[in-house]
Amino acid sequence: MAGEPQADCLFCKIVAGEVPATVVRETETTVAFRDINPQAPTHVLVIPKAHYPDAVTLAEEAPQLAAQVLTAAGEVAEAENIVASETGPGTGYRVVFNTGPGAGQTVFHVHAHVLGGRGFNWPPG
Ligand code: 5GP
Repeated sequence: MAGEPQADCLFCKIVAGEVPATVVRETETTVAFRDINPQAPTHVLVIPKAHYPDAVTLAEEAPQLAAQVLTAAGEVAEAENIVASETGPGTGYRVVFNTGPGAGQTVFHVHAHVLGGRGFNWPPG
């Protein structure tokens, strides 16, 4: 059922504390932890604790939770000093939801990649 923990889901296991992760931020409904294979100086994954497979399903079935994930992503960016600022070190960051295997999604528990601390190209690879 949507939102329920899935026994074979890696990120549900991180939420449950069964798989270790470097958690940088946690709310009642979300967890943010460092990616095990970082693609930028800051690479944090923000997930809802409840299991939804992808970003669109999350937005359709739990829109308030989708907003909480994005709010948490912004809070992570602030804490990591990657927000574009005239006075600070940040120049901006990416929030990425790979959606579907062809787009690079490998873990089917929705997660926002928060990437920053280096320059980025467009279009993405
Ligand atoms: P996706 O490819 O689904 O968009 O992103 C999945 C992300 O999860 C990848 O960037 C991958 O490095 C990360 N990842 C996979 N396994 C683990 C793990 O056990 N711990 C952590 N912290 N990240 C993981």
